[in-house]
Amino acid sequence: MNSTLKFLGRDSAFSKSNTSAYYIDRKHLILIDCGTNILPTIIDKFNFNLFNNISILITHLHPDHAGGLAHLIMYLGYIFNFNSNNLHIVSKCKNLELMLNIMGVEKKLYSICSSNFAIPIYTEHVPQLDSYGFLLHINNKKIIYTGDTSSLDSFIPFLPCDEMYIDVSKGSSSFHLSIDNIITFVETTISLNYCKIFLMHIDDIIYISEAIKEIANISVVNI
Ligand SMILES: [Zn+2]
Ligand SMILES: [Zn+2]
Repeated sequence: MNSTLKFLGRDSAFSKSNTSAYYIDRKHLILIDCGTNILPTIIDKFNFNLFNNISILITHLHPDHAGGLAHLIMYLGYIFNFNSNNLHIVSKCKNLELMLNIMGVEKKLYSICSSNFAIPIYTEHVPQLDSYGFLLHINNKKIIYTGDTSSLDSFIPFLPCDEMYIDVSKGSSSFHLSIDNIITFVETTISLNYCKIFLMHIDDIIYISEAIKEIANISVVNI
């Protein structure tokens, strides 16, 4: 299946390819999350001179989602002259600015702002962090991106949508959804609200690919 969002990485926390997605709208780069281990891929992937604006959406402050953010902001500011007028961090994470301050990122290099195309949706992940998915309106599509989540409850009011990107793990835990949770969700809720389902933040690609191979309209994201 073709996905609107493209992915630089699709793996879970302790991989070498943390989950990170992007979309390019003419001269506007939209990037979702910037984990420690995906930062070199982000830097190699793009010619940042081609963009007038960059929006970085941050779901939560775990290192596999925000560990590379301070470095990327400084890189874009000092090497490519981005600043608070054209480098937008879209996030509701309450300690984001504190984290960037501690790491020495100058406030003139970025702005933290809301966006008309990316609405944060609070979700349950871990008790020590506030975590968000996003409702995205891009390319004339309504897209739900869960970020890391242990529940889909807060996203259900936003259905139906065109595409849904969901965090998945092989087994169940109190921090992530298991593949069994997602198959149940697809068979119940999504069968009534058609949309394409894309799985990300994957800890076992072989196991998860096998588990979904007989199910229509669900796939792992391509990288
Ligand atoms: Zn994660
Ligand atoms: Zn996390």
